[in-house]
Amino acid sequence: MLLMRALRANVDDDVKDTIINVLGVRVASNPEKYLGLPMMIDAISVYVMQCFALPKFLCCKLEGLMNNARDLIEDRILWQLGNGANVNIWNDPWLLGVETTEYQLIEAETNTWNKELVRNIVDDVHVTHILSILLSKARSEDTLVWKHKGSGEYLVKNGYRFLITEHFLNTNYINPNTMVYKDFYRSFWAMHIPAKVKIHVWRPLNNFLPNYCNLNQRKLRVRVDCPLCKAAPEDTDHLLWSCGTLQSVWASLQIKIAPTDKALSCKNYFVNTFCLADELNRQLIAISLWALWYRRNKLIHEGINFSLQELLGFIQGYRHEINLCQEKIEVACVSRLNEVWRPPDLGFIKLNFDATFQSESKTSSIAVLARDCEREVVGAETYLFTDVVDVFVAEARVCERTLPYLYDGKTI
Ligand SMILES: [Zn+2]
Repeated sequence: MLLMRALRANVDDDVKDTIINVLGVRVASNPEKYLGLPMMIDAISVYVMQCFALPKFLCCKLEGLMNNARDLIEDRILWQLGNGANVNIWNDPWLLGVETTEYQLIEAETNTWNKELVRNIVDDVHVTHILSILLSKARSEDTLVWKHKGSGEYLVKNGYRFLITEHFLNTNYINPNTMVYKDFYRSFWAMHIPAKVKIHVWRPLNNFLPNYCNLNQRKLRVRVDCPLCKAAPEDTDHLLWSCGTLQSVWASLQIKIAPTDKALSCKNYFVNTFCLADELNRQLIAISLWALWYRRNKLIHEGINFSLQELLGFIQGYRHEINLCQEKIEVACVSRLNEVWRPPDLGFIKLNFDATFQSESKTSSIAVLARDCEREVVGAETYLFTDVVDVFVAEARVCERTLPYLYDGKTI
């Protein structure tokens, strides 16, 4: 296959014929169709083969990868029903969450499910799944869609995400950080401080900082003493917790330190201290870690002397500035929330609509209200839908009921 692509790419016809004769193979006229693969894979392999002579085992490996990609897509696509003409209900995948020519199941005249027939041929569970599928009024053709995404569109990243999730589920992989620090991370990421500060704190928590010990491990540095306190090697634990300079900063800022226990790690100490603090002190903890790393870099790369007083002034000023900005944002949000309904311009109709969803009964009530420039109600409708599978479908159905108003005249 790769040979065919290389031949197709940039080889003269005479040379191409000679190679084909020697090898006794034939050239496929449309390999993309045969493979059913994205053009990107094709482009990559052609590009690589133009630049390098690939060994046979690598060609086999690439072919295997492409076949795996094809199998992945084939196994995880789903028929999105149009008129139902192309779907075999017993053999084709068309129900989400159920492993199974439904043309007869749809009433052709009304374009609705033939509920009686559906109930006669499948059990209650399947009935619910089938009746919750919305049928297109346009009677469009059945379409194959990727079943793990709401839009049905397949992208390489969706396939990758699915494989990674499946791998973790199959190997019972549990990320210890996710389990133990779940509450910590939830409150940490919700803090009102710049993302760059939060990301900086997240880095040592996962040992992603190029501290001296990490550089030493990669043979990029010999000495590992902390450039600030010079009392111990600069590793992740030191930066997060045990650095004397950091402890002095926290003491000056009157951060309450959580009780320490020898069974716990420095990371645990940090997380416990953070959880013990109130919102303002949490901000101080995060900003102090970020600012200390900045000053440490200034010292070692630019020779700028470190000053504890200057650092403390910066941390408090920075936090004060953040909170001022936050207050301004909150005021702006409140004033926007207080905006009242305004009528449309002359000659236009304004539509307001919404839906409720009851998950237990699988029902949805919707309401549509149409008003003109003089606030007069020119149309209103409420409706109850049954067999609604989720909130998304409830919202879709209210949009569907709103559409007829759009054909009547100018609307906004
Ligand atoms: Zn230190």
